[in-house]
Amino acid sequence: MNKELQGKRIKSCHLQDYERLQKIGMLDKDTKSFHQLVNGKIKSVISRGNVIRVKLNNEMNLILAPEYGGKIFYHTSEKMVPRKFHLKVNFNDDTVLTVRLTSMGLIHAMKDSDLERSYVFRRDFNSDVPSPMDEELTFERFSKLLAENNRMLKSVLVGKDAVVVGLSNSAFQDILYRARLHPKRKASELNKDERRALYDAIKLVLQERIKLNGKDQFHDLYGNQGGYTPVMGPNMKKQTCTVCGTPIEKLSVGGGHVYLCPKCQV
Ligand SMILES: [Zn+2]
Repeated sequence: MNKELQGKRIKSCHLQDYERLQKIGMLDKDTKSFHQLVNGKIKSVISRGNVIRVKLNNEMNLILAPEYGGKIFYHTSEKMVPRKFHLKVNFNDDTVLTVRLTSMGLIHAMKDSDLERSYVFRRDFNSDVPSPMDEELTFERFSKLLAENNRMLKSVLVGKDAVVVGLSNSAFQDILYRARLHPKRKASELNKDERRALYDAIKLVLQERIKLNGKDQFHDLYGNQGGYTPVMGPNMKKQTCTVCGTPIEKLSVGGGHVYLCPKCQV
C-alpha cells in the first residue's frame, strides 16, 4: 500500500452501507471526519499488528483495522470499482481505493492528536509490546517474555494480553503445530529448545505468509488471492496429521477453538 499510495492526493471520500458498522462502533459516529481527509496527500502507509495507518500531510489519518477479514482494493479507474464497499477513496490521478470490512474491524478518520483515543492504535502502534516482525524481537528477548509468563501459550501469544502484537488464532494454530507444542502448555515451562522452536515457527509462518502474498482466504491490494495455506487450522478438520497420521483434534482453548495433532504436539 505504501508503494502504491504514497504521494497521492485524496479528491473525495464516499461511504455506503455503513449504518450497521456505526451502530457497533466499527466506523466513526460522525462521518464528517472523512471530509477532513479530502485534499490530504498520503505521506506514508504503515502497518503494525492488525492496524494500517494511512498518514496524510494535513494531520489526518485513515486508520484501517480489518481484524478478522476485510477487502482493501486498489483500482486504476472508477470503472473497476466493485459494487460493494464501505469506504471509497478517490485520488486526484483518478485511481481509487475501496475498503470493505467482512467481519469485525474498524474504519476511522482521525487527527494525529486524537490517535491516542483509538484502542486499536494504542494496542498495535503505541505500546511497548513488540511485533513479531520487529527485528528487535530477538530470541533472547522473546525467551525472557515467555519465562515471565506462567499462562497458557494461547493467551501469551494471542489477544489483548499477548506478549507480541497481531498474532491471530489462525496463525497461532499454524505456529504451534510447526513448533510441535501443545496449546495448553505454559509459556514459562518451555525449555530452551522449545522456546527456540516456537520463535522460529513464528518468524517462519509470518515470512511465508508475506512471501506467498498472504493467507489463501484473503486477497491482496490488487484482488489476487493469497497463496499461503496454513499447515494446521480449520482447514485440517477431519484430516489426519501429515507427519504421523493421527486424526486431527479440535480443542477449546482460551475462548476459541484450536486444531492440533495430539501426538506431535505435546
Ligand atoms: Zn502428528
